[in-house]
Amino acid sequence: MAEKTINTYTCHAGHEIVTVRRVKGMTPKTMRCKHPGCNGSSNSADFNVDQKLEPTFEFYKPTEQEMEKLTPLEKDHVNNGGLLCRKIDKHDGK
Ligand SMILES: [Zn+2]
Repeated sequence: MAEKTINTYTCHAGHEIVTVRRVKGMTPKTMRCKHPGCNGSSNSADFNVDQKLEPTFEFYKPTEQEMEKLTPLEKDHVNNGGLLCRKIDKHDGK
């Protein structure tokens, strides 16, 4: 069975985002809700979702250049095998 890469995060207010894991690595169990104006905490569905969902955010491994711009906390996270989350730019690759 193929490894699951699609996941969702849902906050207490019901805001849901679909994420994709681009590379092997750790993704968080919870993260700050990405919905504008919402500071809720979103919970991971542990990849137990329809793998055909269209992701809007991606987990990626930063390049060395990107690493230099990270906060010490984020660097620690990445150095411990964690991935970072960013919005997928829909205009990319067109
Ligand atoms: Zn929210």
